[in-house]
Amino acid sequence: MPAYRINDWLENPRLVDVPVPQPGRGEVLVAVAANGLCHSDLTMSQIAGEIGELIGWRVPFTLGHEIAGAVAALGEDTTDAPQVGTPVALVSPASCGRCAYCLAGRDSACPNGLAGRGYGRDGGLAPYVVAPVRALIPLNGLDPVAAAPLTDAGATSYHAVRRVLPALAPGGTAVVIGAGGLGGFAIQHLKACSPARVVAVDTSPARLAVARELGADETVSGVGSERGDPARVAGALKEACGNEGAAAVLDFVGTDATITAGVGAVRPCGAFGLVGSGGGRLRASWYGGLPREAEVFTFQGSTIADAHAVVALAAAGRIRSLVEVFPLDSVADAYDALDDATLRGRAVITP
Ligand code: NAD
Ligand code: ZN
Repeated sequence: MPAYRINDWLENPRLVDVPVPQPGRGEVLVAVAANGLCHSDLTMSQIAGEIGELIGWRVPFTLGHEIAGAVAALGEDTTDAPQVGTPVALVSPASCGRCAYCLAGRDSACPNGLAGRGYGRDGGLAPYVVAPVRALIPLNGLDPVAAAPLTDAGATSYHAVRRVLPALAPGGTAVVIGAGGLGGFAIQHLKACSPARVVAVDTSPARLAVARELGADETVSGVGSERGDPARVAGALKEACGNEGAAAVLDFVGTDATITAGVGAVRPCGAFGLVGSGGGRLRASWYGGLPREAEVFTFQGSTIADAHAVVALAAAGRIRSLVEVFPLDSVADAYDALDDATLRGRAVITP
């Protein structure tokens, strides 16, 4: 079968021919109907061997960690699996299910989970993928093409929004920096789950138009760009949030400029969450550098429960999954469109 793979450390991905995988004990084979493309995929060919091995990745591996399809075959010891033919979405992050984090329902922090389907293990940019039974989420009527992006863009942004909910009282403002795949869902989760006014920030006017469509109350353009002076950017954000500042800022970009501007816009007792992997840093002094009494945190992906919750929100019509569909042999063009921020919806490949 064709598979879009990273064949060796520091090599760009390409389409190659590989055997159809066999499900092992406790695993099922899934026929992939749809796989969403994530901005993180664009950075994966930059992982060097030492780091990859340290975090438990192995090469070669097939990219794609936003997967939905149907159960195609059952491995041994899968009596609790949905029957063959059942439409499912897949939780991509791996987790052991046994460590203290997993037992507390915080499986996105599982130390055994740094490799997942599509990053360090074979993912969904191929007609078939294998997954353990506990990674399967029955779709209950949801279209797999709409469901695929929910498993990371939808669930990771939900994880972030859930974390800042205590800071969001009526009258408060939440800022979403980077209204792309994850940010578009974050806007919707904020509107569905909190009373906050939502301000979306993006360098792309097209993405700001989509942000409005998805429920943003206000949009701020041009701020947070690499060239933007963070002090001016923070000023523009403060203005958009009223004088007291933002109750919560979620940064889905993560450059020096967006982190500095985002942290600078948070009011006392607010929250700043960093999701974007832009590699930026914050230089902040003891006084005036960080918002007083605020939460400043980074996080990793989403929990299994987050993915189930987001599928339920979509099935109930509380959030929408905007997509643009591409065939597998156009995957490189789809990644280019993602990188250029010209997509209206999440790029979804139908292998
Ligand atoms: P995306 O490309 O769909 O969206 C990024 C958006 O940010 C685009 O709309 C783009 O126009 C905008 N943007 C770029 N530079 C900007 C700037 N300086 N100021 C304001 N807006 C800017 O990407 P995505 O798939 O939604 O991913 C977003 C980020 O989240 C990526 O960095 C990705 O690696 C990261 N991510 C993290 C996790 C995690 O678990 N922590 C999971 C998935 C993705
Ligand atoms: Zn664990």
